[in-house]
Amino acid sequence: MSLKEINETFKEISSMKPLSLLKCTKCDEKLERSYKEGEYATKVVEDKCPKCASPMYVKLIYVNPPPQPQSSY
Ligand SMILES: [Zn+2]
Repeated sequence: MSLKEINETFKEISSMKPLSLLKCTKCDEKLERSYKEGEYATKVVEDKCPKCASPMYVKLIYVNPPPQPQSSY
């Protein structure tokens, strides 16, 4: 793999913008925001539930597929 290819791959990954789905520990409120380094499923994060202000935990970490590039062919 050439250095150029590695750079391309890195660019691709960072353009995917991973997201964390947070869930309230008390109610069922869910919150989606961008993933922060070091987060993993079930980790309790500093974010508070917008509904009841209880701590929230990471329910799921996922990647949004990047928007399809406009094909010019
Ligand atoms: Zn809540």
